[in-house]
Amino acid sequence: METKKGGAKITSIYIWFMIFLVIASVLLIYCSFRAEKSIGRMQEVTNEYIAGQSAINEMREASDFLTEKSRSFISTGDIEDGKMYYKEIEVDKRREKSLETMAGYEHEEEIYQSLKDALDESNSLAEIECYAMRLACEGYSVDPSDISEDLAQVRLTAADRALSKSEQRIKARGMVFDNNYDTMKDDIITDVLGSLEKLLDGTHDEQVEAYEKTVALTRTEHAMIVLILICMLAMVLLTARKLIVPMRRSTGYIQNNELLPTAGAREYAYLAQTYNSMLEKTMKHHEELSYEATHDELTGLYNRKMFEAKREELADTDIAMLIIDIDRFKEVNDENGHEIGDRVLKKVADILASSFRLEDAVCRIGGDEFCVMMMQMTPELKHVAKAKIDRVMDRLIVPDELPKVTLSIGVAFSADEGEGDLFAKADAALYATKNAGRDGYTFYCDMV
Ligand code: GH3
Ligand code: MG
Repeated sequence: METKKGGAKITSIYIWFMIFLVIASVLLIYCSFRAEKSIGRMQEVTNEYIAGQSAINEMREASDFLTEKSRSFISTGDIEDGKMYYKEIEVDKRREKSLETMAGYEHEEEIYQSLKDALDESNSLAEIECYAMRLACEGYSVDPSDISEDLAQVRLTAADRALSKSEQRIKARGMVFDNNYDTMKDDIITDVLGSLEKLLDGTHDEQVEAYEKTVALTRTEHAMIVLILICMLAMVLLTARKLIVPMRRSTGYIQNNELLPTAGAREYAYLAQTYNSMLEKTMKHHEELSYEATHDELTGLYNRKMFEAKREELADTDIAMLIIDIDRFKEVNDENGHEIGDRVLKKVADILASSFRLEDAVCRIGGDEFCVMMMQMTPELKHVAKAKIDRVMDRLIVPDELPKVTLSIGVAFSADEGEGDLFAKADAALYATKNAGRDGYTFYCDMV
């Protein structure tokens, strides 16, 4: 049997679908992992910005703090302000720490450099402040070592030492409130703001990059999800179209004992072809059995069983029944042998089968006895039956190599009056023919 016919093999298509699904799923997982990392990076960049901004602000705040404390000490001579100034310089060191924080940042060389410039300028300013504070110590008669040992180490010029206390205070104040001081202070602020601006630019660039990456990955993720859904839908539709629909449709064919259509997936087609082949064999076997059960083996005519069935089936219809018996057939057998007898039976059967209409039932009901049931026949159509019988007898006497035989026939119509059923009437007519010397026919209706 052919097994390669039919549509595509659904198992192969499924394998390709599965390969595609695995690849798409792996890509989906990879994209979602990368997108998560990218979002994490955006968060990291923001945190770095916040930390950077706070560090840069510390630089400015510490510098302002030093300005404020030095100016305050120089203006008032309050030792506490001086101490707080040196605490910032020696202990808190916020400016240095700010620079250290920015040193840890990657890709931020320019920011670091700006901040370092700010620190250098702040240190230069601190030198002026320290000198002015040392001068103010003299002006206020404050022991500088009470504030800081470093302050005590600052050496005043001989000219400044020679100034009066009042002049020393005025000069010290002038040093931290003059234009030079303000210009240097402005430079520090400019550097601090510059590093803030660079930090913001760098953060913005990195955030844009991370955002664009996240968007691209998310789009790929969506595309993968859509493709996976389409693939799964295609699998369902394919299964429905190529397997479920043909199988559902086939139940109707099976119930009607019909051959299955083989359109569909190759797996289904194989099943359908196997079923069809089995059905064909079964039907053929059934036909053979049914033919053997209803037909006579020697002549091919309907057998006795079929004759009985037809008789019952046609019991209420108008028919003519002809019972035909070969005359002295026993002698044919005795004189020529059984085999020749069989050939004579076959010849008679062939003549009968080909002389009547297809709808008429021609049966062999006994050894040398036949019966023909002619459909839709009434006594008015007696001449039709006569013509048929004459034709049969004419054909029978055409010379051939077989021994010549004659027939005795009895005919009855369903519509005939009289005792007994149709068969009994036809049989009575046959008996009459035999009694009359054989080789002829009798109509039952002529007997009564
Ligand atoms: P009658 O004119 O009265 O009908 O005489 P007959 O010799 O034909 O007598 P009958 O009808 O009783 O004989 C039928 C014979 O047919 C008997 C039997 O030997 C023979 N016969 C029955 N079946 C077959 C068969 O299948 N083959 C052959 N060759 N002969 C058969
Ligand atoms: Mg006979």
